[in-house]
Amino acid sequence: MSKHYDLIAIGAGSGGLSIVERAAQYGARCAVIESGRLGGTCVNVGCVPKKVMWYGASLAHALEDARDYGFDVDLGGFDWAELKRKRDRYVGNINNWYHSFLADSDIEKISGRARFVDAKTLEVAGQRYTADHIVIAPGSRPLVPDLPGADLGITSDGFFELEALPPRVAIAGSGYIAVEIAGVLNALGSEVTLFLRKEHLLREFDAMLREGLMEAMLDAGVNILPRTQIARVEKQDDGRLTLYCDGGQAYADFDTLIWAIGRVPNSEGLELEQAGVETDAHGHVVVDAYQNTSVPGIYAVGDVIGKAQLTPVAIAAARRLGDRLFNGQHDRKLDYDLIPSVVFSHPPIASVGLTEAQARDQHGAAVKIYQSRFTPMYHAFTRHPQKVSMKLVTVGAREKVVGCHIIGLGADEMLQGFAVAIRMGATKKDLDDTIAIHPTGAEELVTMR
Ligand code: FAD
Ligand code: NDP
Repeated sequence: MSKHYDLIAIGAGSGGLSIVERAAQYGARCAVIESGRLGGTCVNVGCVPKKVMWYGASLAHALEDARDYGFDVDLGGFDWAELKRKRDRYVGNINNWYHSFLADSDIEKISGRARFVDAKTLEVAGQRYTADHIVIAPGSRPLVPDLPGADLGITSDGFFELEALPPRVAIAGSGYIAVEIAGVLNALGSEVTLFLRKEHLLREFDAMLREGLMEAMLDAGVNILPRTQIARVEKQDDGRLTLYCDGGQAYADFDTLIWAIGRVPNSEGLELEQAGVETDAHGHVVVDAYQNTSVPGIYAVGDVIGKAQLTPVAIAAARRLGDRLFNGQHDRKLDYDLIPSVVFSHPPIASVGLTEAQARDQHGAAVKIYQSRFTPMYHAFTRHPQKVSMKLVTVGAREKVVGCHIIGLGADEMLQGFAVAIRMGATKKDLDDTIAIHPTGAEELVTMR
C-alpha cells in the first residue's frame, strides 16, 4: 500500500523545506524525503558553517588591526578544534529546530533516498508514496575531477570535517568556494596556493572585482598560480601530496588538497527516466519559467536546475511555486534577473546585475560607468590598508542603474538595500538625490561623480 500526499518534496534543503513549508501553510498534506541531514547543503556544509569560518577569519584580521589602533594584543594562538566544535553544535541546533518545525507543521519527514517508480509514485527504502505534486529538490554535490590520485583530495564537504588547521593547502578552482576557503585558511594561518586552470579568479564577475580580489589575495600572502591545471596527484612517503600539472611542473608538500571546481546536480539515482523527466547534458533538470518539468505535476527548484545556485534563489522559487499551486496565484514565478550575491572572500565582494562588459555588449555606447576606489577610514590606521572599489553600470539618457559591483570592507552588508532600488528601476539621479549616511563606505554609492 502506498501513502498519498498533496505534495512530496525530494530533498530537505533550502528548496525542499521551503516548498513543504509554504504548501502546508495553505493546508496541503505534505511530506519531505531526505537521505541526509535536515537543512541540506546550506545548513550543513555550505552557507552556515562557511559564514562561521568567515567570521573567524575576519577576527584574525581584526586582531592584527587592533595593534594599529593602539591595543597591546598578545595572541596566544587559535584553537581550530574548539571553533569546529562550536560550529558543529550550532549546525546541530538548526537540524533539531527543523525536526521540531516539521513535526509542528504536520509535515511528514521520510528518511532515505527517493527514486521515481512512475510520474506519481516515489519509492524510499521499499515503501511507496504517491502525490498529486512532486517537487525535485535534491541539490548538488562537489565535482571531483577524473584524474589519477584525485581522491587524495577533499572537497568543501571535507573542509568542514577538518579537525585541525592544515599547514600547507592547495586549492584547485577559481569560483566562489575556492576564493572563500582560500581567504579563511590564509587568515587563520595556513599557507595557501590556488591553482587556476585559466587566468582569472571569479571569471564571470566584473573585471574590477576579479582584479581587486587578485591584488588583495596576493597582498595577503596567498600564492596564486594562473594557467596551472593539476593533472595527477601522488602521496609522498611522509603522507603529504605532490601535484603534477599539465605544463610539467610539480608542486610538493601539501597537507591538504581541496577541489573547488564546481558542483554537479544530484539527479542521477532518482531514476527520472521512470517518470519521463527531462534533463540536460549536465544532468540538470530542465524547467520552464514556472519550475514545471517536462512532466505535468512534477517540478524542480534549487541547485538541481543549474541556475543561480544560491540558497535564497532556491527558497524564493519554492515559495512562489507553493503560492501558485496552492493559493491560486497563477502567474506567480521567480524572476531570475537581478539576483544579488555576495562572495565571502577577504575582502568581500557584492554584485548585482550586468557587469560592465555585459552592459557594453548589450547596450554599446549607451553605457556610462561610475567608479570609485578609496581607502576606507578604518584602514587609514592599519598597516595593511585594503582599498574599497565600487562601480555603477548605467544605461541610456536616464542613466538607469543596471549593475552595481563592490569589493572591500562592508561590501557584504552594503548591497541588499541597493539591490531593492535597482530592482525598482533606480537611476543615477535617484541615487544622487538620496542623502548620504556619513561617515560610511556605502555613502560613496550615492555621491559618485
Ligand atoms: P540542498 O540544500 O543541497 O538540499 C538538497 C537535499 O536533498 C540534501 O539535503 C540532500 O541530502 C537531499 N537529497 C539528494 N538526493 C536525494 C534523494 N535521492 N533522496 C532524498 N534526499 C536527497 N548560497 C548562498 O546563497 N550563500 C552562501 O553563502 C553560500 N555558501 C555556500 C558555501 C558552500 C561551501 C556551498 C557548497 C554552497 C554554498 N551556497 C551558498 C549554495 C547553497 O548552499 C545552495 O545553493 C543551496 O543549498 C541549494 O539548495 P537546494 O535545496 O537546491 O539543495
Ligand atoms: P563555481 O562555479 O563558482 O566555480 C568553479 C570554477 O572552477 C569554474 O568557474 C571554473 O573557472 C573552475 N574550474 C572548473 N573546472 C575546473 C577544473 N577541472 N580545474 C580547475 N578549475 C576548474 O563553483 P564552486 O564550486 O566554487 O561553487 C558552486 C556554486 O555554489 C557557486 O557557483 C555558487 O552558486 C554557490 N556558492 C555560493 C556562495 C555564496 O553565495 N557566497 C559560496 C559558495 C558557493 P574557470 O573556467 O575560470 O577555470
